[in-house]
Amino acid sequence: MFDPQKDNLETRCPRLGSVIPFRYCLISGPDSLPCFKILDCWWEIFDVDTYLKENLPTETYNSLVTEPPKPKVASIVEIAQQVKQKKQTGGFC
Ligand code: SF4
Repeated sequence: MFDPQKDNLETRCPRLGSVIPFRYCLISGPDSLPCFKILDCWWEIFDVDTYLKENLPTETYNSLVTEPPKPKVASIVEIAQQVKQKKQTGGFC
């Protein structure tokens, strides 16, 4: 079960350059799945690996630990599209 206290933790996002909550990282990947960098960005703050393993569907968790990172340009385009979409829907950002 997701923990609201963990979901509200904040860190500086290396992709966006601003402080963001963990809950954003959980949905900022393609199809509102977790960002591919979530393990890299949060391991120093709390045991994110165990947290995700316990709370995500097995297939989703496995994709985080086995898929290679995307090229930087593809990531930037993806983030820009997500920000644009969230602004249009009145979501986060
Ligand atoms: S996991 Fe992704 S969205 Fe979250 S801080 Fe890291 S790069 Fe940014």
